[in-house]
Amino acid sequence: MANNARELLKQVFGFDTFKDDQERIIDAILSGMDVFAAMPTGGGKSLCYQIPALLFKGLTVVVSPLISLMKDQVDEAQAKGIPSAFLNSTLTSEEVSGITKKLSCNALQLLYISPERLALDGYFSYLKTLHVSFFAIDEAHCLSQWGHDFRPDYLVLSNLRERFPGIPIAAFTATATHLVQDDIMAILHLQDPFIVRASFNRKELQYDVFKKQNVLQQILSLVKQYKTEEGIVYRLSRKDVEQTAAFLQEQGIKALSYHAGLHKEVRAKNQEAFDRDEVQVMVATTAFGMGIDKSNIRFVIHGDLPKSMEEYYQETGRAGRDGLPSRCILFFGSSDISRQQYFLTQMQDLQEQNKAKENLNTLIRFVTVHECRRKQILSYFGEAYESPCNNCDVCNGTTRKVEATEDARKFLSAIVRTREGFGSRYIIDIVRGADTERIRTNGHQHLKTYGVGKDKSLVWWSSISEELLGQQMIYKDIERYNVLCLSPTGREVLLGKTPFFVSEVTAYKETKLSGTQNINEALLESLKKVRLSMAQLINKPAYIVFSDKTLKEMAAHKPKNTQAFLEISGVGEKKLEAFGAAFLQAIRTHEGEGDF
Ligand code: ADP
Ligand code: MG
Repeated sequence: MANNARELLKQVFGFDTFKDDQERIIDAILSGMDVFAAMPTGGGKSLCYQIPALLFKGLTVVVSPLISLMKDQVDEAQAKGIPSAFLNSTLTSEEVSGITKKLSCNALQLLYISPERLALDGYFSYLKTLHVSFFAIDEAHCLSQWGHDFRPDYLVLSNLRERFPGIPIAAFTATATHLVQDDIMAILHLQDPFIVRASFNRKELQYDVFKKQNVLQQILSLVKQYKTEEGIVYRLSRKDVEQTAAFLQEQGIKALSYHAGLHKEVRAKNQEAFDRDEVQVMVATTAFGMGIDKSNIRFVIHGDLPKSMEEYYQETGRAGRDGLPSRCILFFGSSDISRQQYFLTQMQDLQEQNKAKENLNTLIRFVTVHECRRKQILSYFGEAYESPCNNCDVCNGTTRKVEATEDARKFLSAIVRTREGFGSRYIIDIVRGADTERIRTNGHQHLKTYGVGKDKSLVWWSSISEELLGQQMIYKDIERYNVLCLSPTGREVLLGKTPFFVSEVTAYKETKLSGTQNINEALLESLKKVRLSMAQLINKPAYIVFSDKTLKEMAAHKPKNTQAFLEISGVGEKKLEAFGAAFLQAIRTHEGEGDF
């Protein structure tokens, strides 16, 4: 076995170079320092504690919140040849005693453990009898009440530093907020930690924000466009989840649903089917979250406006963990805003309400302001970014900014002249000079604004109304039958002091998602079949065998012997031994056929 981090990287993980801060983090841990590392999803956090686990003489304990994930993590580690196990409530007492036995004779290097188990009486004392070299706290944001997945049982970890002096503790999280970072470091009592905040820029993700028209159709057409790829569709309510999943199924798409209203077993079953690439689309509420470790998610669609930037970032972040290009598409309409504002009024706790309001406003700004989406996301997390990113609807020119100040003033003026007493459709009728009984009864055909916008379509005026609502230049008065009223910024537009812009989708670009060049598609298909049969053989999800990225590289480079096979990123010695022959055979067969 290799004796330094770099050699292990190649031998065990099959990678040539460390990503970003991985090496610095590993060095700090090996030198005995505490570490706090915030790295985005897909940033490669696991390797930062798995390599030290292999290099330390004693045991590495990894605290991880998700029981469902632990098994996969251990499967993956074992597939690479790392002696590892997990302890949580799903195990039988025989299984537990089997692991305890291994622990007592130092046969394990990596132990994943749930916080519930650590909280058991006397557990710390038990761990003290083992030779523990290092603690890694994964998903450390679960410690913080400010995070999005607070887990009270994580707080047992606040004693760790005191109970295990001199043993390094490293906290890992994909949370980008500073508030959560400070909280984590304080609760764990990290001592002079080595702090890493990686960039939260996910280069491989393309961000698009579009207006809702017929959102089910919009979702369907994307899902069809990427029919050989898998993705998640997020919807706000359980009802919308069910409806969307049913609609996609009717259209022949393999889709399942996931929300907190489903029985625990159904949820687990659906997630497993998605993990194992048996369905194309998972339609879900925010409940579908942290437990997703699938690396080949190619698209994340939001059918409604999310509640906060943090939520949006985490949810889109589930795409492209393998580093291959992936798409994130958000559809929003002004009805999303009124719906969420209604939820806000239902909140009892004033402090909570204000926080939620602020979160919502950030997101409204994000979707309505015509500014590089990536820049806006990163700036929310305090990271400066030089746009254009050339990978979002604004920078790509898919969405264009069009000045519409004059039309906005016509519309606003009609609202004011009718004393802020009517809804959108009526105002549009006035502007377009419609001959309706209601207008005649009110005598509004004599208004100065009557008919000033005859030359433009109903669709155009509806979009002006939507944009004015979206940009909060006007609002619906819930207490007076949702009539339209002007906000202070709307008045400025009316007075000609502020210009008004709408965004217009010019041409939808068909974005191809294959990252690696020169892939032989037919070969890729047969490699996927080999992967599936290997996965069935060991009864594990396909990605445990090899990631999509690794398969695509094989299909591009077509290695013919073990040496060349080892050169493929993601192929370590253990996997070569277990799966090499089958894949090499498939490549040779394919190439042989090609020669005739
Ligand atoms: P995180 O926990 O930070 O979300 P993971 O540890 O699951 O990320 O790693 C994400 C992906 O990146 C995995 O497929 C992993 O194999 C890959 N990866 C990690 N480190 C490297 C590296 N140095 N070179 C290439 N790929 C890497
Ligand atoms: Mg992780």
